[in-house]
Amino acid sequence: MLKLENVNLFYGEIQALWDLSLEVKEGQIVALLGANAAGKSSTINAISGIEKVTSGKIIFKGKEIQTMDPHEIVEEGIIQVPEGRKLFNYMTIEENLELGAYSKRARKDLKKNLEMVYHLFPILEERKNQFAGEMSGGQQQMCAIGRGLMASPKLLIIDELSLGLAPILVQKLLKALVDINKTGLTILLVEQNVHQSLEISKEAFVLENGRLALSGDASELLDNPHLKKAYLGM
Ligand code: ATP
Repeated sequence: MLKLENVNLFYGEIQALWDLSLEVKEGQIVALLGANAAGKSSTINAISGIEKVTSGKIIFKGKEIQTMDPHEIVEEGIIQVPEGRKLFNYMTIEENLELGAYSKRARKDLKKNLEMVYHLFPILEERKNQFAGEMSGGQQQMCAIGRGLMASPKLLIIDELSLGLAPILVQKLLKALVDINKTGLTILLVEQNVHQSLEISKEAFVLENGRLALSGDASELLDNPHLKKAYLGM
């Protein structure tokens, strides 16, 4: 569904991605892992068109997208749930969700998608008229995922889902992602939380210093000695 081929990305003189190639297969949950500053955000910002690659190709459903603008990439069906949620605190939950459906493609399905999001996260419906800024961190993350789903994604990219959340909430949200994936949606999960991400993913890519360090079947990576030592403290 999505392929990166030999992607290089620079910020001025600083090279953040080095000859990066990876693939996300349709229908899977795929994890993109790595420590702080490994290049995870740079990778997904390149996919979403927020950062332009210096060289290399990004191909989505057979089409090169690396020169397209972010709003065009949204129309293609790649939707990013940003790190830190980025909700509008003084707008209600429902208003924040509706904002996800601004694209031409998603607008026509607004009602249907809203029902689906409320079915997935009933607490959002119960609190739909409350300001987003008054919700707990976990509920805000549900709202941010819900806003992503309102955009009728073909590929949903979730950046640092677990950031600042209690482990039990992270478990609950990851379970919701598994349920969403079962409906056929492809998910790219970007995380520092290596263990839990690998448990729900089919395949994974591990970045180190802007380069691909490891990749493969998620269940096999869980047993990889380098990964265990570097990320799981084992
Ligand atoms: P984090 O989890 O901390 O967000 P990350 O894996 O997402 O880390 P990136 O944010 O992609 O990593 O950063 C990769 C490298 O690029 C780092 O060395 C970082 O300092 C650098 N970098 C990122 N954004 C910029 C920028 N706008 N200008 C200059 N350098 C940047």
